Amino acid sequence: MAELRFSYGVMSAGKSTLALQVEHTWTSAGRSGALLTSKDRGGAGRVTSRLGLHRSALEVGPATDLDQVLREAVPDGGFVVADEVQFYAPEQVDALARCVDLREVDVACFGLLTDFRTRVFPGSQRLVELADVLVPLPLPVTCWCGRPARVNARLVDGEVVHEGEQVVLGDTAPLGPAALDPDVFGPEVHYQVLCRRHWAQKRTASGS
Ligand SMILES: [Zn+2]
Repeated sequence: MAELRFSYGVMSAGKSTLALQVEHTWTSAGRSGALLTSKDRGGAGRVTSRLGLHRSALEVGPATDLDQVLREAVPDGGFVVADEVQFYAPEQVDALARCVDLREVDVACFGLLTDFRTRVFPGSQRLVELADVLVPLPLPVTCWCGRPARVNARLVDGEVVHEGEQVVLGDTAPLGPAALDPDVFGPEVHYQVLCRRHWAQKRTASGS
């Protein structure tokens, strides 16, 4: 029986690594399918993992007709591995569900549940509403204080912010590149996982 699965976790929980592993496992078993992503850190049309693995993928943008893409790329009974699903529109998640129900396609989705304000992303919300199986990723990611990381905190010029656009791509490496000229490039945006209390207190390290 085909299933719609949503595996979710904070940044650094190994989502893209696991997505690539699942795609490899299904492909090795002789199945045909598609790897999808959206706004991957490695650029459009790629799934990249922090371990250095990467694969080319179909890029899902706001205007992508996912029904059509899936019809062309995935045979009946095939599979879809969809990474960065927090960036998909709810209607695109509906298209993934139709693929499961009408064509017996297995769909494994990976993404963040909540944004830097602790709010659920629309695409992730739609998956929570529709998925057959919800899987919290087991990798224990911790705040600098040792508590479980709960929030993908956004830092603008080094300060935790609680307001702003839902999607602003930024650097997720522990140590970002050298600061760029803010007059030319705008404020520097980073993401860092924090526990709930240190997100609320806007503290990114002890003593700061
Ligand atoms: Zn903490």
